Order: sequence, then structure tokens, then C-alpha cells
Amino acid sequence: MVGLGEGRAPARGWTLAWLADPGRFQLVFTALYVIDVGVRVTFGSWFGLVCGPGFALMSVPLLLVVGLAVPWDRLAPRMALVLPVADIAIIGVSRLAPEGGNGLLAVFPALWLGRQWGRFGAVVAGAATVLFLVVPGAIYTDGDAVLLVRTLFIALVVLVTALVIADGMDQVRVQAGTIEHQRRVSQAIFDTVDVGLLLLDRDGQYVGMNRRHQEFMALGYPDGHAGRAGQLGYVFDEDGRTPMLREQMPAYRATAGEEFDDLRMWIGADPASRRALSVSARVVRSDSGAFAGAALGYTDVTDFMRALRVKDEFIALVSHELRTPLTSIVGYVQILEEDGAVPAHAVDQLRVVHRNAERLRRLIGDLLDTAQRDGSPMPINRSSADLSAIVVESVEAARPVADSAGVELVLSATDELRLSLDAQRIAQVVDNLLSNAIKYTEPGGHVTVQLGSDERWVDLQVADTGIGIDPDDCLRLFTRFFRTEDAARRAVAGAGLGLSITKDIVESHGGRITVESEVGRGSVFRVRLPR
Ligand code: ADP
Repeated sequence: MVGLGEGRAPARGWTLAWLADPGRFQLVFTALYVIDVGVRVTFGSWFGLVCGPGFALMSVPLLLVVGLAVPWDRLAPRMALVLPVADIAIIGVSRLAPEGGNGLLAVFPALWLGRQWGRFGAVVAGAATVLFLVVPGAIYTDGDAVLLVRTLFIALVVLVTALVIADGMDQVRVQAGTIEHQRRVSQAIFDTVDVGLLLLDRDGQYVGMNRRHQEFMALGYPDGHAGRAGQLGYVFDEDGRTPMLREQMPAYRATAGEEFDDLRMWIGADPASRRALSVSARVVRSDSGAFAGAALGYTDVTDFMRALRVKDEFIALVSHELRTPLTSIVGYVQILEEDGAVPAHAVDQLRVVHRNAERLRRLIGDLLDTAQRDGSPMPINRSSADLSAIVVESVEAARPVADSAGVELVLSATDELRLSLDAQRIAQVVDNLLSNAIKYTEPGGHVTVQLGSDERWVDLQVADTGIGIDPDDCLRLFTRFFRTEDAARRAVAGAGLGLSITKDIVESHGGRITVESEVGRGSVFRVRLPR
């Protein structure tokens, strides 16, 4: 398991970091020194061993052994100061002969001092140069002004170089400190939120996750996770039973560059402790716009999913229990209506009972439809049927309601239109659209039904001059239990189920339904079915 931002080693700065070790520093210094001496000797500047350069050359290997052998990490950090200071001293000693050492070599230990100890290191480098190069140089050159100025110049270069690197390193340290601080703040924030967060790189490797997500991972992968998207575990579909395939896993899909919201799944093997999650994914892009990884959020929706299930079971049960007595009420009311012995005023009242009982029956049917399917596609029974006849029948059935609502109902008739469809379900579509159009149109308005077709499509259009629908509401119109505020305020009867069922029926026939509407002017619902 990884914390946020802990996935990879930093790519830059490895050279300087490699040199931070005193042994390695001494190795590089020795190499530079030997190269310098080699070049001098090659080009004729010979010196004996019993002189400054000779002592210096013999000291270099000794110092290398010290540099490599001493366990610097176990000593006080400042002990390592000995090495660069000794190196500067060696350079000073090597210059105690005309053929002696190269003063500029002191820049290297000075750089190292500046890098390791900042300004303090730079001051040490400057002081060591003055002590070991300038002072002996002044004595040795016996007041030669040019040589003295040259040595002073070397000391100046050494000091400035060490200061510059010290300053640079200070800035790097401040920046690194800020970045580290920001990382900790982000980690604290991510751990505080109740949503599981996961970061992936472009290969699907996990680069970070918060504590909440670690809990989800422990449920889904009790035997551990390799930290790469697509690993199979106790992860199930929305139904809670079907194990998810690799290609369906949210992290795998996000690695393929997909973005999504509210992908539902269950995680965990034990029914008592498993959780339902709603997952969202967003792609992370590099400066050039290339896919660089993905961020995923896992929200725990267990309570919501369980409540949904209980609600659907409850609706199914209640609807079923209500349907049976209602059927006998409608049957007996019908018998009474047709009974000649019932007085005329009672027959009028019986018709009201009949109409309302039918409305209840439709509502219960809608509730049952919605609850029983639980999001699965609407089953349909196709057979050859005349769509024109279905529409005419629906319009005629709706006419008495339209008349009593003072709404004019117009049908532009068409010839026979044979299609393979579920006649009962398609009649339900026409009934729903017609009943809505009449319900939401003021007296004096019109409802027009049109049926048209070409070689590929059949179009049914139900237009009204009613209250209309707000554009924002149009987007949610086909979701379960949605009703516009306007409809609720006008106390028009309805449960907000008709259009969602209508949409399901149309889509299960391979068609689609659209709406165009303007508040105060009316709405047009269009159903397009393939021939
Ligand atoms: P309801 O039983 O409430 O009518 P529907 O699913 O059929 O349920 O419709 C959902 C909502 O859409 C309605 O409550 C109403 O707000 C709005 N609506 C549907 N048809 C129309 C229409 N023709 N004119 C205005 N609003 C409509």
C-alpha cells in the first residue's frame, strides 16, 4: 500500500546525491588530482618525491583510504569536513614548488563543502584556501605581486563558487521542504475525506491511495494486491453476485483512458461486511495533452443501495397486494353500471368510482413494472401489429377525458402501418403520452397526434399547447419518480413513472424518445421506432 506521491524515486539530482557520500567525493578528488599530476608529468614538469608536490602526491592515496574506510554515517556529520579541508591542504602543499599543483583544483572540495554545509561550508572552504594556499604562497613567492594576486584570485573563485552552490542548495532544500510539506498536507486532507481515492500512472500502476481506499482494498483483496489496475478479487457487479471481469474493473477502464461517473459495484466476500461503491474516474494529462494517468474516487453507497432494494421489494409487495382487490372492485362496478336497475344518478357516481379505480390500477401497474425490473431491460413480446390501429384506439379511448378537460384532440390519420412490436406495450406508450398531453394542457388547448414513416423509421408525435417544461427539467424527465415543480404545484395527479416506463419500452424496441418544449407554449414528444 502506498501513500500519495510516494510511488516513484525523483528522476533528477542523482549526480549530486551520489557525490554526497564522503568516500565517493574523495574518490573523485583523487581521480582529478591524479589526472592533473599526470598531465604535468607528461608535459615535462618533473618533481622529486622529497618536496611539496611529492608529499602531496603520497598523501592523496592515504586520504582516499581514509575516505573509503571510515564509516562516516556513524560519526558526527561534521567529521567529514576533515576530507575537503585536507584536500585543500594537499593542494597548498603541492604548490610549494614551482612545478607544483593546480590551485584551481581547490574548487572541487569547495563545491562539496558548499553543497553539504551551505554557507558554513563555503566559509570553511574560503578559510582553508587562505590558510593553505594564500599564506604559504605569499611566503613562498617572497612578495612576488603577480603570483600573490593569482593565489588571491584562486581563493576568491573558491569562495564565490562555494557560496553560489550553497545558495543553490538552500533554494533546493526550501523547495523540497515545501513540496514535502504540501505532500503531507494533501495526504492529511485525502485521509480525512470519506471517499476512497486512488491515483494511477499511465501504465495502471498504483501511485497513491488514501486510507479509506486502503480499507476498501482490504475487503476486495484480503490476500494482498500487486498495485496494478485490473487484478481480479472479491469485486462484483451492481447486482452483487456477478464477479467483475478485468475489462469491467474501474481502475482498468480508467487506465484505458475512460472517464465515467457512478459506476456501481460491490466489494468484499462476506455479505455482512461488504460494501457497495459508486466509482468516478478522471484522466490526468501531461503538458502535451498525452494520457499521464488517472484519478478515481470510490464513494460508499451501501446504505443507499440497501435502501433502494428494500424500497423496491416493498413496492412490489404492496402493489401486488393492492392489485387483487382492485380487480374485483372494477369488475363489480362494471356489472353495476350495466345493471338496468341502478338509478341514473348512481350510475354517474359509479362511473367516477370506475374511472378512479382504473387510475389506481394503472398506477399500481407502473409501480410494479418499475420495482420488478430493478434497472434491467424491459422484456417485450413482439408480433406483427398495425401501429396505426393502436394509435387510433388510444386516441379514441382518451377522447372522453380530453372532452371533459376542454382539450381538443386531433389525430392526423394514417394508413395501416404494420410493424413487429409488443402491441400492449406500445399502446401503453401512446396512452402515457396522450394522458400527459391532456393532463398538462389548460382548457381550450389542443393536443395533436401524428404518425409518419419512411423506409427505415416510424415517427409518432404527440404535441400539446400546454404548460410546457423547463429546459433543465427536460434532461431529467425520463428518470423514475421525477415530476416538474409546476406539475406538483398545480396538483395534477401523477407519480412520475409514466415517462420512464415509456422510455424503457421505446428503447427495448430499438427506438428513442425525445422532447422539445417551451414553458407556457407547450411540448412535443417524438417517438422514433425502427421499421
Ligand atoms: P406523471 O405521472 O407525473 O405525469 P410522467 O413520468 O408521465 O409522470 O411525467 C413526468 C413529469 O413530466 C410530469 O410530472 C410532468 O411534470 C412532466 N410532463 C410530462 N409530460 C408533460 C407535458 N406534456 N407537458 C408538461 N409537462 C409534462
